[in-house]
Amino acid sequence: MQKTLRRIIFFAVATVVTVQFMVSQVRIRDTKQPIDDEYTKKIREYTTEPFFNSPWTDYLPGSITVPTPKAVLGDIAGAPNKLPYSADVYRYMRMLERATPRVKVVSIGTTEEGREMIAVAVASERLIADLERNRSRLAQLADPRLINMDDAEAERLAAASVPIYYITGSIHAPETGAPTALMELAYRLAVDDSPKIRGIRDRLVTLITPIVEVDGRDREVDIYNWHLAHPGQNWPNLIYWGKYVAHDNNRDAMGLTLKLTQNVLKTYIDWKAQVIHDLHESVPYLYDNTIGDEPYNAWVDPILTDEWQMIGWHNVSEMTRLGMPGVFAHGNFDTWSPGYLMFLAATHNGISRLYETFGNAGADTLERTLTPEQYERTWYRQNPPLPKAKWSQRDNNNYEQTGLLISLDHFAENSRLFLRNFYLKSKRSIEKPKNEGPAAYVFPADDPRPGGQAGLLRLLQLQGCEVVQATAPFSVTMRKPKSDNAGKNDKNEPPAGGPDAKKEAVQFPEGSYLVRMDQPYSRIADMLLDYQYWSPNDPQRRPYDDTAWTFGEFGNVKVARVTDVKVLDAPVKKITAPLQISGDIRGDGDVFVVNHNSDNALATLRYKLRNAKMEAAEEPFEFHGVKFNRGSFIIRGVTLAELRPVVSNLGLQALAASDAPSVVSHPVRAARVALVHRWLTTQDEGWWRHAMDDANVPFTYISTQTVAGDPNLRSKYDVVIFPPAGRNSPQAIVAGMPMWGNALPWKQTPETPNIGSPDSTDDMRPGLSWTGMDNLKNFVQQGGVLLSSMNTADLAITFGLAPGVSIAPKQKFKATGAALRTKLVDASSPLVYGYTDNLAVYCFECTIYNLSNLANGGGQRPTTEPERTTGRGTKDDPDLPQGRPAVDLPELPKAEPWEALPLTDEQKRNNAAVIPPEFRPRVVLRYADAKELFVSGLLDGASEIAQHPAVVDVPVDRGHVVLFSNNPMWRGETQGSYFLVYNAILNFDSLNAGRKISDGTTRPPGQ
Ligand SMILES: [Zn+2]
Repeated sequence: MQKTLRRIIFFAVATVVTVQFMVSQVRIRDTKQPIDDEYTKKIREYTTEPFFNSPWTDYLPGSITVPTPKAVLGDIAGAPNKLPYSADVYRYMRMLERATPRVKVVSIGTTEEGREMIAVAVASERLIADLERNRSRLAQLADPRLINMDDAEAERLAAASVPIYYITGSIHAPETGAPTALMELAYRLAVDDSPKIRGIRDRLVTLITPIVEVDGRDREVDIYNWHLAHPGQNWPNLIYWGKYVAHDNNRDAMGLTLKLTQNVLKTYIDWKAQVIHDLHESVPYLYDNTIGDEPYNAWVDPILTDEWQMIGWHNVSEMTRLGMPGVFAHGNFDTWSPGYLMFLAATHNGISRLYETFGNAGADTLERTLTPEQYERTWYRQNPPLPKAKWSQRDNNNYEQTGLLISLDHFAENSRLFLRNFYLKSKRSIEKPKNEGPAAYVFPADDPRPGGQAGLLRLLQLQGCEVVQATAPFSVTMRKPKSDNAGKNDKNEPPAGGPDAKKEAVQFPEGSYLVRMDQPYSRIADMLLDYQYWSPNDPQRRPYDDTAWTFGEFGNVKVARVTDVKVLDAPVKKITAPLQISGDIRGDGDVFVVNHNSDNALATLRYKLRNAKMEAAEEPFEFHGVKFNRGSFIIRGVTLAELRPVVSNLGLQALAASDAPSVVSHPVRAARVALVHRWLTTQDEGWWRHAMDDANVPFTYISTQTVAGDPNLRSKYDVVIFPPAGRNSPQAIVAGMPMWGNALPWKQTPETPNIGSPDSTDDMRPGLSWTGMDNLKNFVQQGGVLLSSMNTADLAITFGLAPGVSIAPKQKFKATGAALRTKLVDASSPLVYGYTDNLAVYCFECTIYNLSNLANGGGQRPTTEPERTTGRGTKDDPDLPQGRPAVDLPELPKAEPWEALPLTDEQKRNNAAVIPPEFRPRVVLRYADAKELFVSGLLDGASEIAQHPAVVDVPVDRGHVVLFSNNPMWRGETQGSYFLVYNAILNFDSLNAGRKISDGTTRPPGQ
């Protein structure tokens, strides 16, 4: 077996070498082109096999005036043991700019940590001089309304213009090759006079952002240098990339929460680019996932999906012809979610592209052994990579550059076609209302959460969409909701299906906002606001990412999808600046009342006015003719002059009065919050930090190691937030990493100047530990609130911090980043202040909880109704023992699936596990009934989680453990569920408010 395999591999290698020999006749290099001999020699030296290079990159053109990358690297691009910092990469790009009129460098913004992002344009001196005029021509193709949709004029413009091909490198910090590949690519494009390269330079503008995740790049270079300085030791994992998130920086193209996404989108839109080609390095040797796998995103223009096929297969085919092994397309990446950076182009009438080349996570040259899954031939990978090969960063740079040059050449050759398509896609986006529809999305003026509404509209504006506002009421015809939709969100009615669905006239008030679909970027609005359906029977069994993102539902904002084109006749005014709603104070006096509508600005308000005295009403009430929700704020100790600018900025409405409403209330305090992270992964908690920073809710950022070392957490914090921890098991959170080998520091030192934030440690290995678990327990017992979600809630349950809650095993249940409907169980709990019913929550394989009145979780509801045994009578009759009088059977305990079964007398007798009534888990939100549960995305096995608890408040001694079976703070998408977290913070010492004790007493215990 082993021998045969070896022979096959030998044969494969031999074949490749032959092919390489044959195709080396393909000439790119011009015979008259001067060569940089020394650099070219190094290229050969660092390339581990001749077939890991191509005629495009096996030489470097020479120039007397223009410096090569060696000028800053001290060696060639892709050299072993060399990774340049962002500053070096930028220095080189600016040297190029000074040395040749064919290169122009612009700053495109900064990162969260203040590092610069740049874009480098490379083209002929004529095109560089003509950039502005070219941009204004492209702008008319991008918005055909400017030329009255005149196809002949578009044709003239396309003939006079050149496309912009935008390449983005190193968004994923441990994927390290792109910056040097792009330095060399810029040099080649600027100096090489061979006909192929000149053809690219004369016919398109190559735009390059060499590093997208700049903060992460500089940290990664630190780590790599540490590795070089400590040979033979394990090196620390790159625990932080950007300030907030790691790998998920490539899932932000919908929410646009990160600077890097905002800067790339702005560059793409400003330059009117046709392509975003994003470079990654996690698959051998070049996986062009431009084409991807099914299901395709359902909202993109079919012209785009045809372009994917055309471009992707051309790329693969050309590199295969060059004899380079391991180049393929298709793969297992589905193009359903529009969250990837490259998709900014797909959602804005351009073309999205992505390469996965092969990287060694650094610049070491390594013998790499692949898994069968990676090297086996399949129908879409007829030219697979080698099972084993020595691989260098130079090899990676050769593949990246060869693929890009072939792509640029292809795009230049077909530039007219792609510009025509660009125009056509833009035009078809504008024609959406009269074709596939809808005609518009309407955001009604009477939304009870105007702040959430404005936030979602601002996001659409940031996406390049135009928002208008109705200047008078208007009415449209809409499909009537189906009668069985009774349990659906009263606010977001998914369109009822079928042509036979009954229609009705619906009126929208003056002041409602509209996102009309007769605009060039209608597709992104449609994509974000529409519902998703991923069939449980889809042949694609492994969704690549989330299957749902419906922004109206996750944002708890009313959105109406209107297909009636009459909506376009509504009288409107344009909203030009980013949408702001201004708040106001009505009335006079020194008591202020602000309605709780779960607007995230209310959390900001509490912390902005730290010294003000705020109370939360425990019941709904009416005050001076205005209705207020449960949880509404009653504010004292602040003057009108102090309050006015704050509510105005936050878009809140306050009522001033000289008297106070007579309603039971409790203090709303500016709680001291700690947010806990692990040293295993910081990915998911980063989204929580981002949300809280965004709302200006202050917190202290501590690690599980800090928790382990602090027996007195309660003296410092009121609330400890422990966001979900990737896929780590409770045991892994406690254990951390194994302690053998060397310490893994994450701290700032002279050799690692960019490491050490946002937290630092001498050794990343130790986890929470049992001491840490004990400290958390003491914290809660002393009156603190521990807020946990998904696997950190599992941790609390597993290690005894949530008596009465247990985790049910899953059978068929599957919800892969779906939106699920919830129901309010206990509307009087402070956790749901400001919420109306039917909130949709994000669920990625969320946890199924069961409840019990026994601490050990015993006595749970049977999963099926007991069936009668064999005996006399019909199915519903009782059996009757013969020869004695019949007796009545005791009634079996009954409960709803979100409740604990009532205890029987047998269970109560001398049972230390019985949880005292006031300490029993209090279910606040539950999952909806099976038939109402699905909102959006992929849901299978709904009945397993239907009606089970979703958010549970567990009183423990003087404090509380709050369990979320889902993740309420996710990628800037789930703004509607953020306030569940803020409510826990603001009401930390009154979470028992409104609680009814199940033994019949109503007095809340303790606090
Ligand atoms: Zn990547």
